[in-house]
Amino acid sequence: MSHKVRYYGDQATFPAGACVHCLRPATQELELTRVKQRLSGGYLARKVRVPFCEVCLALREAKTPRQVRFERAAAAHSLLLALVVGGYLYVTTASLNLGPWGLGENGFWRALLGLLSAQVVFGLLYLLARSWARHFQSADTRAALRAVSIADFDWETTTLEFADGEYAERFTQANQGNPLG
Ligand SMILES: [Zn+2]
Repeated sequence: MSHKVRYYGDQATFPAGACVHCLRPATQELELTRVKQRLSGGYLARKVRVPFCEVCLALREAKTPRQVRFERAAAAHSLLLALVVGGYLYVTTASLNLGPWGLGENGFWRALLGLLSAQVVFGLLYLLARSWARHFQSADTRAALRAVSIADFDWETTTLEFADGEYAERFTQANQGNPLG
């Protein structure tokens, strides 16, 4: 169960420099960002710096061997597929009569089209693969990522969500915030 704490403003006091995840002394700060779309158009962003220790920061970024293997294999396959798509477009557009632009006769434009398509295909597949690879994150990494997040904010208040109840309580005391359950 997570614990939400709302406080006024965007500057918070973090209890005695303790790491948000393990409560040991924090050595670094991590900037959390949350962006919201405004009804009137445009975006509203809130940034909060939270204390972490080195161990927990490393945990947040750690990748399991399985995750690394998956990402590597996915990158290789994405590249291969992208080259096939790009090559296919380069070859097939040669026989196309694309009207006044003369795309079919121009080898340069066909090569450019092939390369750009390959890049788009690779980019999309690789992004997809990276987010899919997060399924292989360790439980420790997931816990460290869940330690704190910006749950909500508006002009006057910021709501942080903590995984640890004890930390949330100390944070509430330090900021006279309103725990939202
Ligand atoms: Zn820590």
